[in-house]
Amino acid sequence: MSETEKPTRCGYVAIVGAPNAGKSTLLNHFVGSKVSIVSPKVQTTRARTLAIAMVDRAQLVFVDTPGIFEPKRRLEKAMVAAAWTGAEEADVVLLLIDAQRGADSDVRLILDGLKNVKRPVFLVLNKIDQVPREKLLALTAEFIALRSFAGVFFISALEGDGVNDVKRAIAEALPEAPFLYPEDQLTDISERLLAAEITREKLFLRLHQELPYHLTVETESWKDQKDGSARVEQVIYVTRDNHKPIVLGKGGQTIKAIGALARHEMEKVLDRRIHLFLFVKVRENWTDDPERYRAMGLEFPKG
Ligand code: GDP
Ligand code: MG
Repeated sequence: MSETEKPTRCGYVAIVGAPNAGKSTLLNHFVGSKVSIVSPKVQTTRARTLAIAMVDRAQLVFVDTPGIFEPKRRLEKAMVAAAWTGAEEADVVLLLIDAQRGADSDVRLILDGLKNVKRPVFLVLNKIDQVPREKLLALTAEFIALRSFAGVFFISALEGDGVNDVKRAIAEALPEAPFLYPEDQLTDISERLLAAEITREKLFLRLHQELPYHLTVETESWKDQKDGSARVEQVIYVTRDNHKPIVLGKGGQTIKAIGALARHEMEKVLDRRIHLFLFVKVRENWTDDPERYRAMGLEFPKG
C-alpha cells in the first residue's frame, strides 16, 4: 500500500502529571513550536491547550493540562478540573513523571485517578539529563508494580532525547479515524490568549514568591494594522494595591523589561510585528469573578 492509501489515524492524547513535571516543555517539543508557556514555578499552565502534531498518516491532538494536585483555592479547583477533563476525553494518556521527584504524593493522587482509565497509558520518565540510569530502572520497577502501562519511555523534554520514540508509539496506539484538524494547524489557542499567556510567562519568570499566582493577564484589544503588524493592549490584574508598584518596578523598569521580553516572543511565535501596551489594574476579587475564568478558557467552579 502506498503512503496515501494507508488509513489515517487520529485521536486525543492527554499529558497528565504533577506540576512542574515538564508537560508544557514536552508539548512544545512535540509540536515544534511554542504553544504552551513554561516556567520553573509550579502551576504556570492554567487552561487546557490543544496542540497538534503529524506523524506520517497520523494526527496527534495533544491536550496540555494544568498539573494535577490537591486543590485548595478556587482557581486551583478550576485548573485541576480542566486537567481531569483532558484525561477523560483522551484516546491515549501520557503519565509524565519528573524522575528527580519520583512517585511522590502528587503522583500517587494521579495514579489513583487513572485507575478507571481503560485507554492505553504510557509511562514517560522525564528529566533523564538529571538522573542516573539505575535510578530510572528502580523508578520503573516501582511504577509497574502499581499499575500496567502500554509502554515505558525515558526522555529529556528539555533536550529532546527520546521524544520522537514517544511520538511514534502514540501514533501507532491511536484509532483509525479521519483527521480532526487541518494538517498544518498547530494549536486551537487564539492569538489573543496565546499573547496573554506569553506575558504571563514573563511575569512568572521575573516576579518572585507568591505574586505570580495572584495575577492574571488579559488581552483587551487587538488591532490588525495595514502594515501587517498588530497593536495589542493587555491588562495585568493584581489583587492588591501594594502589588502594583512591584509589577511596575522603579520608574516602570520592571514592566518595561517584561513588556520587551513578551513582545519579542510574540513576534517570534506569531511571526509578525507587535506593538504591545501593558496596563496594571488592581482587581481585589478577580479570583472570584467568573468572567476572568472564561477569559482563561476555564470553567468557573461553584463553591
Ligand atoms: P509543567 O508544569 O509540567 O508544564 O512543566 P514545565 O514544562 O513548565 O517545566 C517545568 C520546569 O522543568 C521548567 O523549568 C523546565 O525547563 C524544566 N524541565 C522540563 N523538562 C526538563 C528536562 O527534560 N530536563 C530538565 N533538566 N528540566 C526540564
Ligand atoms: Mg505547564
